[in-house]
Amino acid sequence: MKQNMTPKFQSFIDGQWLDSETGQTLDVLNPATQEKVGTISDLTDVQVVQAVEAADRAFLDWSAMLATERQMILERWYDLIVENIDDLVKILTAEQGKPHAEAKGEILNGAGFIKWYAEEGRRLYGDIIPPSQGNQRILVTKNPVGVCAMITPWNFPSSMITRKAAAALAAGCTVVIKPSELTPYSALALAELAERAGIPKGVFNVVTGDAKRLGQILTTHPKIKKFSFTGSTAVGKQLMAQCAPSVKKVSLELGGNAPFIVFDDADLDLAVQGAIASKFRNVGQTCICANRIFVQEGIFETFMDRFVDGVKALTVGPGTQEGTDIGPMIYEAAVENTVSLIDDAVSQGAILHVGGKRREDLGAQFIEPAVLSGVTDQMRCFREEIFGPLAAVYSFKTQDDVIRAANDTEYGLAAYLYTKDLQTSWQVSHALEYGMVGINSAMLSLPQAPFGGVKQSGMGREGSKYGIDDYIVTKYMSVQF
Ligand code: ADP
Repeated sequence: MKQNMTPKFQSFIDGQWLDSETGQTLDVLNPATQEKVGTISDLTDVQVVQAVEAADRAFLDWSAMLATERQMILERWYDLIVENIDDLVKILTAEQGKPHAEAKGEILNGAGFIKWYAEEGRRLYGDIIPPSQGNQRILVTKNPVGVCAMITPWNFPSSMITRKAAAALAAGCTVVIKPSELTPYSALALAELAERAGIPKGVFNVVTGDAKRLGQILTTHPKIKKFSFTGSTAVGKQLMAQCAPSVKKVSLELGGNAPFIVFDDADLDLAVQGAIASKFRNVGQTCICANRIFVQEGIFETFMDRFVDGVKALTVGPGTQEGTDIGPMIYEAAVENTVSLIDDAVSQGAILHVGGKRREDLGAQFIEPAVLSGVTDQMRCFREEIFGPLAAVYSFKTQDDVIRAANDTEYGLAAYLYTKDLQTSWQVSHALEYGMVGINSAMLSLPQAPFGGVKQSGMGREGSKYGIDDYIVTKYMSVQF
């Protein structure tokens, strides 16, 4: 029978729901209203270590299970997520703010990774390699790495967890997850469903509490063999350094500075639609949001007219309200940062075409989506990850110019280009130093595709047959007879 789901305030360790031993809690606020949604346990160090030890004990049986047995359990988990989608959407919007339609899209997209990896777990093939001598055989097997720790951000509270955990669990690993303290309830709801799906105790653990303190344990504990992080580049670098002394396998999905390039010959409707979707999804708070929109001179004016009209048509409001496109930002400092990026650009000569005003009538964390043109590489919004509803539009002359500008950043996550010309699309997509390139396409996160970056945007991939590599180790056996 279907049980109604509400936010869980306790952590989930070794199959048990636990408060902090000290009784300490942290508040979780609704970004639309700034009212308290509830609390989470601020676990002690000892409790976090207990979660790691539970995952280590559970690893023996979980990794020994047949891949088909794990598949059945993971598919049950997927089915339960789909069955409980309405409750999960409400929980996600209450803690994160995004419109219900976007929340539903996120949860179903994330659940898709569970279904996909449930099947992929059956295809962890090894190799048999031709030997150097007649009486030798060379065998290669793919084995689960062990206990995996994961730290996830607030912008996709559900799918950032399933994208990592699905691959790990399917490979036979056990996990300890620390969700963002701003959006813990989607993670805890996934734990509740994991428990109902029959994922054995200790296999899937969610710990909550002070980020820095918990992060210290999860990056240093010797029983953790793999650490996976999604978040800012600055924190990622620090956590990677913390993992170094115990030589953990590390994957990082960090910041981006995505170029969105529109050539003169592009399908303008498609390009405008793609730019709006890519720029303003989740109020501009995704690592693959278009950060710099480069439009070729010949269509610049036409593009701007249509783009600005499209942005004017976006509705700002709470995520619970039907028809909302732009919800609240995650905290007030994010609104302030967006305003300061606009002020910086305008003070250096950029033109603000629309938006940029705070909407205090709706709440402290709402701001109208903004469009700037006349932006230069001297302005902060060229170098920094904007992470807000601000579209900075540049004009360019030649293909070489735009490739140079697009690659002029330490980031390398996603890039987009719009053209109908086959040669342009091949040449430019090849020259872009990015892990992912959307060609006339603004949708990148799919279970069967490898999501991830190059340069300082990180390492490792999530999704696809490549994503499971992050959770396995290769063992080679030389057999003589
Ligand atoms: P964002 O800027 O997108 O909020 P962060 O990198 O600050 O990204 O946060 C991503 C995740 O990293 C969150 O779960 C957060 O709690 C965690 N985190 C932030 N700072 C630290 C830290 N010093 N040590 C460990 N985890 C951290």
